[in-house]
Amino acid sequence: MDLLNKIKEAGVIGAGGAGFPAHIKLNCKVEYFIINGLECEPLLQSDKYLMRNKSDEIVSTAEKIGNAIEAEHIVIGLKEEYYDEVLALKESIKKLNSKVELHLSKTFYPAGDEQILVYEITGRTIPPGGIPLNVGAVVSNVGTVFNIFEAIQDKPVIYKFVTVIGEIAKPSIIKVPIGTSVEECIEKCGGTNVEDYVVIMGGPMMGKLISKEMAVDRVITKTDGAILVLPADHYLAQKEKMTVQHMKNQAKSACIQCHYCTDMCPRFLIGHPLHPHKIMRGIALSEDNDEVFKEALICCECGICELYACPMGLSPKRINVYLKGKLRQKGVKWNNTADIFQGHVLRDYRKIPTGRLISRLALNKYMSQKFEEGQEINPQKISIPLRQGIGAPADPIVKVGDKIEKGQMIAQIEEGKMGSNIHASINGEVVEINQNIVIRAIQVEVIP
Ligand code: SF4
Ligand code: SF4
Repeated sequence: MDLLNKIKEAGVIGAGGAGFPAHIKLNCKVEYFIINGLECEPLLQSDKYLMRNKSDEIVSTAEKIGNAIEAEHIVIGLKEEYYDEVLALKESIKKLNSKVELHLSKTFYPAGDEQILVYEITGRTIPPGGIPLNVGAVVSNVGTVFNIFEAIQDKPVIYKFVTVIGEIAKPSIIKVPIGTSVEECIEKCGGTNVEDYVVIMGGPMMGKLISKEMAVDRVITKTDGAILVLPADHYLAQKEKMTVQHMKNQAKSACIQCHYCTDMCPRFLIGHPLHPHKIMRGIALSEDNDEVFKEALICCECGICELYACPMGLSPKRINVYLKGKLRQKGVKWNNTADIFQGHVLRDYRKIPTGRLISRLALNKYMSQKFEEGQEINPQKISIPLRQGIGAPADPIVKVGDKIEKGQMIAQIEEGKMGSNIHASINGEVVEINQNIVIRAIQVEVIP
């Protein structure tokens, strides 16, 4: 079986972003194969854990993939402050006599954004609405590369390394079978330090906020990497509660058109025609200004404009999210263009130091948390979504009552459709099939 088929069979999708199927993404020939180890969001640790502990696997697989796609440059991007990880990767490169290179970045946000990383390494701006392939690059997360290492050994994607951080008794990086509930992950880490809390799935800037009640049913999928627990009255939790109408009223009454939001916007700074201050002016005046609002489609939702730049505490990012929904309904698209875009001359001076961002977000107390590593969860029940990441749901190939083994394929993506195969992450019995396949663990009898 060739590499792409092994990746498809094992159900590998992008581990750090939207979950694009890896066998489709890597079906190309490019100049740059870039491996993203920058852990874009503050506080997250899972990619560092992998680079520290699985450096041989990551380097050897990066080279294998890079050769398959005929990349001239195979580059792992990570932060220069990741001393242990840089050391581990350098040793692996030397030991394996590999042509893989390291690109060491300063600690700024959002250094791990795919478009920013491509710009930093290649000096090329991906056109608005485009993809790295438009400038001769393809980017995979280190977690994806590790999953491809496993796929080559015929091991499917059935677990994730998840950072559990924040108001947690024992902050940890835990190995979690796909389909385990978020609540169970929190319990495994000793529970929370506060009674009333919210959970952010992912990092503080771009993660999705859920209530503690939702954490019971929310399960870990192939794209999850972090669980951040915050007090329910934390600034980030309160900001999420604001209605769209309230945001629009604020834009009308309080936007002083200082354009700091634009000046600090990382997409504007790599040359994209994205001007959040104009969008804010537009929404204050009318709902009907698609020529200006169209710019919202190229917003990556990094949150810098509202959580760092705006002196008035307004919400350009969430206005953009709102507009994107409306524009998509109308079928408005950003047409990829062959134009060449140039980064802003002041870009280097406008990078946001991650430490300052963390202070602004009132997250300093979680910076120095010590992590327990490597614990594994053994859930009694899992619920595995049939659709994980971009594409169609996979079709179940098991039925209620079937006994299944860990690693067995339980749902398959139809030939020709975009999506990923799904595998069981524990031994057990199928007890329910809806949009998820629910499996109850089978107790193994211990014979005295
Ligand atoms: S969230 Fe704000 S700063 Fe980030 S890309 Fe969008 S407009 Fe720019
Ligand atoms: S930074 Fe805030 S106040 Fe200034 S233009 Fe942007 S939204 Fe308006």
